[in-house]
Amino acid sequence: MEGCIYKDQNAPIEDRLKDLLSRMTLEEKLGQITQIERSVAPPSVVKNLSIGSLLSVGGSGPFENATSADWAEMVDTYQKAALESRLGIPLLYGTDAVHGNNNVYGATIFPHNVGLGATRDEDLVRRIGEATAIEVRASGMNYTFAPCVAVCRDPRWGRCYESFGEDTVLVRKMASIISGLQGQPPPGHTKGYPFLDRRNNVVACAKHFVGDGGTEAGLNEGNALLSYEELERTHMAPYIDCLSQGVCTIMASYSSWNDVPLHASQFLLTQVLKEKLGFKGFIISDSEGLDRLSKPHGSNYRQSVLTAINAGIDMVMVPFRYQLFLEDLSYLVESGQIAMSRIDDAVERILRVKFVAGLFEYPLADKSLIHTVGCKLHRDLAREAVRKSLVLLKNGKAPNKSLLPLNKNAKRILVAGTHADDLGYQCGGWTSTWEGKSGRITVGKTILDAVKETVGDETEVIFDQNPSSHFLSTQDFSFAIVAIGEPPYVESGGDNPVLDIPLNGAEIVKSIAEKVPTLVVLLSGRPLVLEPWLLEKADAFIAAWLPGSEGGGIADMIFGDYEFQGRLSMTWFKKVEQLPMAAGNDLYDPLFPIGFGLTLKGLMVLD
Ligand code: BGC
Repeated sequence: MEGCIYKDQNAPIEDRLKDLLSRMTLEEKLGQITQIERSVAPPSVVKNLSIGSLLSVGGSGPFENATSADWAEMVDTYQKAALESRLGIPLLYGTDAVHGNNNVYGATIFPHNVGLGATRDEDLVRRIGEATAIEVRASGMNYTFAPCVAVCRDPRWGRCYESFGEDTVLVRKMASIISGLQGQPPPGHTKGYPFLDRRNNVVACAKHFVGDGGTEAGLNEGNALLSYEELERTHMAPYIDCLSQGVCTIMASYSSWNDVPLHASQFLLTQVLKEKLGFKGFIISDSEGLDRLSKPHGSNYRQSVLTAINAGIDMVMVPFRYQLFLEDLSYLVESGQIAMSRIDDAVERILRVKFVAGLFEYPLADKSLIHTVGCKLHRDLAREAVRKSLVLLKNGKAPNKSLLPLNKNAKRILVAGTHADDLGYQCGGWTSTWEGKSGRITVGKTILDAVKETVGDETEVIFDQNPSSHFLSTQDFSFAIVAIGEPPYVESGGDNPVLDIPLNGAEIVKSIAEKVPTLVVLLSGRPLVLEPWLLEKADAFIAAWLPGSEGGGIADMIFGDYEFQGRLSMTWFKKVEQLPMAAGNDLYDPLFPIGFGLTLKGLMVLD
C-alpha cells in the first residue's frame, strides 16, 4: 500500500477519503458503519471485520473503577487491532463523557448541564469542554457522545439535567462547549463541515436530534407534537450553532416528531440536516435505536435497518447484536434495497471525520497527558463552575435577617441530610456507571468535606444525616446546613410525573428548621415541588443542581468568599399540574421565573 494518497497527511482530506473509499470492499465498508459495545467484541473482531467504532456504556464490568491508565491500555489494544486490519483504518472509541470524563475513576466531574446553564457563562463552558477533551484523550478515547443540546421544556423528563435549560437562546450559547471539545474552527470555516483542532481534542456529538426535550408530558423517548416551525425555532436552532463550530457527529433521538421516530425520518435526517443545513459529518444512531423501530423491540430488525439507513443514519450504535446487524445490512445492499451510493455516502462521512480528527496520524493514547486527569487545574475549573452555578432562592426570613454568608468561626454547626456526605449523589447519573450510584465513587469532595476544610479550627462540625429531635434539643447549634435532593437516575428511569423531594428530604428539613436556623441546599437535576411550608421554614435556600466532584464550590459560596451569580436555567413551577410551563406560555405563573437568582446583597437579577 505504499504511495497511497489516503496515508499522506499532506494530501487534501477529500482526496484522501476518495482514495481510501476506492480501495474498500463491501465488507470493509459495512464494518466502518458498525459501532459495537467493547465488552462483546474481542480485538480480533475489530481487525477481521474492519469495525469502524467501539463504545463503552458507562464504566461497566471490570472497568467500573478503572483509572485512565487502565483505560488507555485497553483502548490501545483495540486501536492496534484496527491498525492491523487490511487497510489500517483507525477506530473511533466513544464514551459518554457528558460532565467530564465521567466513566473514569479519578477524572474531574463537572456540574451537569442544567447547572452549567445557570452560570450563563459560555466561556466557562468552553473551557470545561477543553478540560474534558484532554481527560478523555488521556484515557485513549477520541469520541464523546456530548453535548446534549436538548431544550428541556418539561422537568418531568428524566434527562432534564442533561439539558442546559428551557430557553433556546441559552442552549445556543452553551453549545460553545463544542469549541472546547473539538477546538475552535478558524474564521471562514465552512459551516457544517467537521472540524477538529489538534491531538488534545475529541470528536463531539450533538444530541439528540431533534425535539428530545419537547415530548408530550416530558416522556423520555416520547413524541413531540409540534409544527415544523415550532420544532425548528425551539429545538433545532441549537444545531445551527453546533454546525458553525464544525461539530463532527450528531446523534438521532429515540423520540418521535409527530409520530415518526427520528431514526426513521428521512425528512429530518437527510432533507433537513444534511441537505438544507449542510451537515457533512456523520449521523450516529442511538444505542439500539434501530431495535426500537419495530414493536416489540428488535422484532423486525431487517426492516428497521432498511428504514434507518435509508433515512440517513450513517453509523449504527448496534451495540450488541453486531453479527445480525452486519448480516441484515449486507443482505439489504446485495438485494438492492439499500443503494450502494447510500453506503458510500455513509462511509465517506465516517472517514471524513476520522481524517479531520487526525486519527490516521495519532491513533494511540498520548501517555504524556495522563497527569491531566483529575489535575488541580481541572478541579479548580470545576469548582469555579460549581460556584457560578448555585442559585440563591432565599436568604433570610425577613429583610435584614439574612442567614448567608455563614460564619466560618461559629462555635458549633450541624451538617445534615441525605446529600451532605455523598459524592455519588452529588454527581448524579452518568458517573462511574451509567445510572450513577451512592458513596465514594470517585475522587472528590463532599459538602461535608468542604465545610470541614473551610471553617476555623475552633469550630465544631457535627454530621448527622437525620438527627433526632431529642438530639437537636440538647445541642446548641449556631446553624445547620441541610443537603437533600434526588438520588442518581438516568434516561427513562428518571421520568417523574410527581417531582416531589425524595428520600424524606422535606421532613428532614422540617425537624431541623424548627430548632436551628437552617440553610437548605437542594441537589437535583431539575426544579422539584417546593411546598410553601418548606420554603417558609428554611432560613435560606440554594438550588445546587448536580455539582459533581468539587463540593468545595458550595463551601466557597455559603461562607461568603464569593458573590452569588447563578440564575435559573429553568422555570421553577409551583405545582406539577402547571407543566409544561416555560417562559412565553400564556399562563406563566411560576414560583421563580427562569433567570431568577438572588445575590448576598439581596438583589434580584433577572435575564
Ligand atoms: C443514550 C445516549 C448515549 C448512548 C450511549 C443511550 O441510551 O440515549 O445519550 O449516548 O446511550 O451510551
